[in-house]
Amino acid sequence: MSDCLFCKIRDGEIPGDIVYENDHVLAFNDINPVAPTHILIIPKEHISTLNDLEENHTQTMGELFIAAKAIASKEDISDSGYRTVFNCNKDAQQTVFHIHLHLIGGRKMLWPPG
Ligand code: 5GP
Ligand code: ZN
Repeated sequence: MSDCLFCKIRDGEIPGDIVYENDHVLAFNDINPVAPTHILIIPKEHISTLNDLEENHTQTMGELFIAAKAIASKEDISDSGYRTVFNCNKDAQQTVFHIHLHLIGGRKMLWPPG
């Protein structure tokens, strides 16, 4: 999608601090990290919100979590722990409408989220 920030990072039109990539997904450091590790993992295919998922996205969605596991290991937070979050629409404060899995770790977190 031409006016999508994360499509532009995927296409190299906007710089991204990329930490992981395969055929299906791309991961880069969040520009405004909320923890020592804060990485965004996106499908290369543009999907605006979780509400837009279709049956044929099953593999892509799995790939996001497999990537999260691999990145967590590389970041050395597998044992200490981490959180994976998708925000959907305004009540969850989604601000970029290309779905992204937040991988957050490196500090103790609170539950429930605010
Ligand atoms: P959301 O609120 O939609 O779940 O998360 C969007 C995330 O994208 C936020 O954590 C925000 O800091 C991050 N973000 C916004 N603009 C940019 C950018 O240009 N580059 C990167 N790397 N992250 C961004
Ligand atoms: Zn996009």
